[in-house]
Amino acid sequence: MSYTIIDLEQQTQPDLLCPSCQHCVLDWSKTQYIQPCEHTAFIALDLGFEYVADDFEQTLAVSVDDIHAQELNVWQHIQGSSLACLTIYKMSLGVADYKRYVGFTV
Ligand SMILES: [Zn+2]
Repeated sequence: MSYTIIDLEQQTQPDLLCPSCQHCVLDWSKTQYIQPCEHTAFIALDLGFEYVADDFEQTLAVSVDDIHAQELNVWQHIQGSSLACLTIYKMSLGVADYKRYVGFTV
Protein backbone atom coordinates (compact mmCIF):
# COMPACT_ATOMS: atom_id res chain seq x y z
CA MET A 1 0.00 0.00 0.00
CA SER A 2 1.18 3.50 -0.68
CA TYR A 3 -0.14 6.10 1.65
CA THR A 4 0.36 9.67 2.71
CA ILE A 5 0.45 10.44 6.41
CA ILE A 6 -0.60 13.88 7.54
CA ASP A 7 0.45 14.48 11.12
CA LEU A 8 -1.95 16.74 12.99
CA GLU A 9 0.16 16.55 16.15
CA GLN A 10 0.82 20.26 16.11
CA GLN A 11 -2.80 21.32 16.00
CA THR A 12 -4.94 21.43 19.07
CA GLN A 13 -8.37 19.87 18.75
CA PRO A 14 -8.81 20.17 15.00
CA ASP A 15 -12.07 19.40 13.31
CA LEU A 16 -11.20 16.88 10.67
CA LEU A 17 -12.67 17.46 7.22
CA CYS A 18 -12.69 14.94 4.41
CA PRO A 19 -10.18 16.11 1.76
CA SER A 20 -12.60 15.04 -1.00
CA CYS A 21 -16.00 16.32 0.09
CA GLN A 22 -15.14 18.57 3.09
CA HIS A 23 -17.56 16.63 5.26
CA CYS A 24 -16.76 17.06 8.95
CA VAL A 25 -15.74 13.54 9.91
CA LEU A 26 -14.55 14.37 13.40
CA ASP A 27 -16.12 17.23 15.29
CA TRP A 28 -14.23 18.10 18.45
CA SER A 29 -16.82 20.62 19.59
CA LYS A 30 -19.32 17.76 19.88
CA THR A 31 -17.12 15.67 22.16
CA GLN A 32 -15.26 14.09 19.30
CA TYR A 33 -18.38 13.03 17.45
CA ILE A 34 -17.55 10.69 14.60
CA GLN A 35 -19.44 10.84 11.34
CA PRO A 36 -17.76 8.98 8.48
CA CYS A 37 -18.45 9.99 4.88
CA GLU A 38 -18.28 7.79 1.81
CA HIS A 39 -14.53 8.48 1.44
CA THR A 40 -13.68 7.42 4.98
CA ALA A 41 -11.85 4.09 4.96
CA PHE A 42 -11.44 3.80 8.71
CA ILE A 43 -11.25 5.62 12.01
CA ALA A 44 -9.03 3.85 14.49
CA LEU A 45 -7.32 4.20 17.82
CA ASP A 46 -4.23 2.28 18.84
CA LEU A 47 -6.53 -0.02 20.76
CA GLY A 48 -9.11 -0.74 18.08
CA PHE A 49 -11.24 0.46 15.21
CA GLU A 50 -14.03 2.96 15.83
CA TYR A 51 -15.22 2.70 12.26
CA VAL A 52 -14.17 0.63 9.31
CA ALA A 53 -15.66 0.64 5.81
CA ASP A 54 -16.48 -2.76 4.35
CA ASP A 55 -14.30 -2.08 1.32
CA PHE A 56 -11.33 -1.28 3.51
CA GLU A 57 -11.78 -4.25 5.80
CA GLN A 58 -11.55 -6.53 2.78
CA THR A 59 -8.05 -5.21 2.06
CA LEU A 60 -6.77 -6.23 5.49
CA ALA A 61 -4.93 -9.50 5.95
CA VAL A 62 -6.68 -10.06 9.29
CA SER A 63 -10.33 -9.25 9.96
CA VAL A 64 -11.22 -6.41 12.29
CA ASP A 65 -12.96 -8.87 14.61
CA ASP A 66 -9.75 -10.86 14.91
CA ILE A 67 -7.69 -7.73 15.46
CA HIS A 68 -10.00 -6.76 18.32
CA ALA A 69 -10.31 -10.27 19.74
CA GLN A 70 -6.57 -10.80 19.80
CA GLU A 71 -5.71 -7.21 20.75
CA LEU A 72 -3.39 -6.94 17.79
CA ASN A 73 -1.57 -3.76 16.84
CA VAL A 74 -4.11 -1.75 14.87
CA TRP A 75 -1.67 0.63 13.20
CA GLN A 76 0.52 -2.23 12.04
CA HIS A 77 -2.46 -3.91 10.39
CA ILE A 78 -3.62 -0.69 8.76
CA GLN A 79 -0.21 -0.42 7.16
CA GLY A 80 -0.57 -4.00 5.91
CA SER A 81 -3.67 -3.15 3.90
CA SER A 82 -3.50 -4.01 0.22
CA LEU A 83 -5.44 -0.87 -0.73
CA ALA A 84 -3.68 1.05 -3.49
CA CYS A 85 -3.76 4.54 -2.12
CA LEU A 86 -4.76 6.16 1.16
CA THR A 87 -4.40 9.45 2.93
CA ILE A 88 -4.10 8.95 6.67
CA TYR A 89 -4.50 11.66 9.25
CA LYS A 90 -2.77 10.95 12.52
CA MET A 91 -3.49 12.87 15.71
CA SER A 92 -2.77 12.62 19.38
CA LEU A 93 -5.57 11.83 21.80
CA GLY A 94 -3.78 13.74 24.52
CA VAL A 95 -3.69 10.63 26.69
CA ALA A 96 -0.38 8.85 27.11
CA ASP A 97 0.92 8.04 23.64
CA TYR A 98 -2.44 7.05 22.22
CA LYS A 99 -3.26 8.25 18.74
CA ARG A 100 -6.24 8.30 16.47
CA TYR A 101 -5.86 7.45 12.79
CA VAL A 102 -8.35 8.47 10.12
CA GLY A 103 -7.93 7.06 6.63
CA PHE A 104 -9.47 8.42 3.44
CA THR A 105 -9.51 6.79 0.07
CA VAL A 106 -8.19 9.17 -2.56
ZN1 LIG B 1 -15.81 12.58 1.93
